[in-house]
Amino acid sequence: MELLEEKILKDGVIKSGNVLKVDSFLNHQIDVPFIAELGKEFKRQFADRPINKILTIEASGIGIASIAAMFFEVPVVFAKKSSGSNMDKDVYFTQIYSSTHSKNNDVVVSKKYLNKNDHVLIIDDFLANGCALEGLMDIVRQAGGIVEGIGVAIEKGFQGGGDKLRQMGVNLHSLAIIDKMDAVSGTIQFRKEN
Ligand code: 5GP
Repeated sequence: MELLEEKILKDGVIKSGNVLKVDSFLNHQIDVPFIAELGKEFKRQFADRPINKILTIEASGIGIASIAAMFFEVPVVFAKKSSGSNMDKDVYFTQIYSSTHSKNNDVVVSKKYLNKNDHVLIIDDFLANGCALEGLMDIVRQAGGIVEGIGVAIEKGFQGGGDKLRQMGVNLHSLAIIDKMDAVSGTIQFRKEN
């Protein structure tokens, strides 16, 4: 999506450790009219799917998922990072490795908000190795629901998670895919066919 690529080039900051900061518009300060354009694009890409719920993970997925949900007219559920017991009967539980923080997070979703009747669109701000999305897919599987698709704002293609999910047959759409980025020169190269 050209609009997003231009915004990343203008406002993104490449940090060490292959981290891209876009917190001036996506996941700290939120440029709501701009993110609404991304939400509309998700709606266009998944228009043929019977989506009745959007699932994301706290904290940085909540903004984009909520704005996208306006266009789907469905509720958003966000998986919570939990410090409580994973033996709780009322929640689905999974573990997600965070490469940005180098640690495992226990993640839960209440059974009240996800079940076998749900047709779920998973949305997140970033896709790197794919751990966050695989964890969210695991939660939908536990609930007996169907993952209709996954929408991601920025995929770091060079970290491989997106291509792994595509090979698994997941209906994944990333609005911008970065194939190369270099912290020293500040250059970013996008995947062309996107
Ligand atoms: P994955 O699980 O695919 O390795 O990483 C995705 C998760 O890590 C996302 O939920 C996102 O919050 C975070 N993340 C991964 N890479 C980046 C990055 O370059 N910048 C930011 N801001 N977050 C990232």
